Amino acid sequence: MAEPESAPPSSPESPPAARLSWQLALPTAGFYLAWTGLALLSHLAGCTTMQPAAAGLLGGAVLVTNALLALLNLPAPRESADSAIAAAQAGLAIAWTTVYAVLAQGPGELVPGMYLTAVLVAFTRTDAARLRQLSLAAGGGYALSVVIRLLANGAGGAPWGEVLQCIGVAAMLAVLGRRARQIEQERRGLREEIGHLQQEVTRLTRNAERDHLTKSFNRQYIMDALLREKARADRTGRTFSICIFDLDRFKSLNDSHGHLVGDRVLTVFANRARRALRAMDAINPTRFRRALGRLGGEEFIAVLPGTEIDGALRCAERVREAVASQPVDEDLQITVSAGVAEYRRGESIPELLTRADQAMYAAKRSGRNRVRVSAARTPGPKAGEPAKPSLRLVR
Ligand code: GH3
Ligand code: MG
Ligand code: MG
Repeated sequence: MAEPESAPPSSPESPPAARLSWQLALPTAGFYLAWTGLALLSHLAGCTTMQPAAAGLLGGAVLVTNALLALLNLPAPRESADSAIAAAQAGLAIAWTTVYAVLAQGPGELVPGMYLTAVLVAFTRTDAARLRQLSLAAGGGYALSVVIRLLANGAGGAPWGEVLQCIGVAAMLAVLGRRARQIEQERRGLREEIGHLQQEVTRLTRNAERDHLTKSFNRQYIMDALLREKARADRTGRTFSICIFDLDRFKSLNDSHGHLVGDRVLTVFANRARRALRAMDAINPTRFRRALGRLGGEEFIAVLPGTEIDGALRCAERVREAVASQPVDEDLQITVSAGVAEYRRGESIPELLTRADQAMYAAKRSGRNRVRVSAARTPGPKAGEPAKPSLRLVR
């Protein structure tokens, strides 16, 4: 309660789109650079040969397609886009590895590693189904490049070593796919567990804030809320008020009807008071909600952020009226007395509570079923002096 109701515009966990896009692009660029370096070394060592024009074209195509992919994903709004981007990056890497395997002469040692790297790029970032598709694409691309070279070179130049490597890569990809499925299942289990834990935290937080019987906020929560309101009022100059409600002759109600009925009456009061406060919120909406707390026994408090004494008085009157206007049972009528006080800049929370309490006791003395106000506009106490409440009869 007493907190702004509007949710923050975006969750702090979601990274800005541009940063996310770079986070995804940089590791992939690193892998491309590493494999280009190795291909160059292989070329210099005479293991692989490739026409400079083909190498240039391939390098350019790799750069352009990856830059386009990064640009397309710049407005990626959420981390969930990561899975699709990773799969697209891996798909591109598989495609360009296949082109390299077809264009280069004798690239046998490098190609399996390239395919594996392409799949690994997406390994922890995409789901098992996409990873299976990527593994199939890598295996298929590798097999295709071997077949194309077989056809181009004739059976004599058949790269049998590579065929064996191709089988080895397919086996490794199958193992990877299986592991990915296991990881996905573990992730799903963890997500479910986190969901349950979040529900439990919400339930425990709610219980820690509420009074078990009436579901109003408990005393501790109200005290914290009052301190927050005071800090806000001292900082911003925006005032707040409180109403203390005490059910009339509740002890004799307990004595005549029993404690269980007494408990039910407390619940009925809390429900009617909450409804009345909500109705006031609807009539005069503020950014801050009014809230009902149970101070103890048959004593309740409403904290009214951003509310001056006149508004607080209307709230208290409305609650009093809601309680008195309708019997709880045929033979059971209840009433409530209330004391209202507006916060005076600089006074302590116990001083504010004392003023409202004294106003409430004044209402009791004047016959019960009425509201009294502790005047707010009188000057506050000097430093070191206790607050001197002044009372004004309303009803
Ligand atoms: P007054 O009009 O002056 O307020 O009289 P009262 O009888 O309401 O005031 P008093 O403080 O003498 O009595 C309050 C009673 O509230 C005493 C106690 O038995 C009862 N009470 C306190 N907490 C609970 C509760 O949780 N359930 C029930 N049933 N009764 C409670
Ligand atoms: Mg009472
Ligand atoms: Mg009492």
